[in-house]
Amino acid sequence: MIEQIVPSTICFACDVCCRFPDDTSPLRPYFTEEEIRAAMAAGVAPDAFPDHHGSQVRLVPHDEGYRCPAFCPETGHCGIYTARPLDCRLYPIAVMWDVETQAVVMGWDSKCPFIRGTRESPESQMYVDRMAARLESPNIADIFIEHPQLVGAYQDDVIILKRLDTITLGLRPSEKPRRP
Ligand code: SF4
Repeated sequence: MIEQIVPSTICFACDVCCRFPDDTSPLRPYFTEEEIRAAMAAGVAPDAFPDHHGSQVRLVPHDEGYRCPAFCPETGHCGIYTARPLDCRLYPIAVMWDVETQAVVMGWDSKCPFIRGTRESPESQMYVDRMAARLESPNIADIFIEHPQLVGAYQDDVIILKRLDTITLGLRPSEKPRRP
């Protein structure tokens, strides 16, 4: 279970998530093999996934850009909400490489309008601490280590919060643990 910080009423009224400017957007969600099976069982077509062992979802045209095939334009909701992948459950937390591609870090995606107004609050700071501990827990860190594609490339609009040593060491054993 991944704790959510953004109230669903705010998510449903927002037009940022699940839509992308182009069909090769690096931000389109990555699904593990297990998550692909769950998404297909929930109704997503098999051809939405180029590799059924794990892949980023294949986007479909939407307005001027593209959307996740699981996104329902009529309702503005995720059509597979209870089966959505870890990549989506974490948002607006992003897990990515730092600018030198040496360490895995977690950060706020500043594109999320909710986070822009609340990220300095004590509640948000406590959420970050809990999420860092969750991401570094063995059962979650192992998913990232088994699926390195879940760690995104550095994005300069993500506000870096913490270095994730367990995931970093799992992917780059020669790195020395340190804190930002
Ligand atoms: S799986 Fe659901 S939450 Fe994730 S991008 Fe697709 S529609 Fe959005």
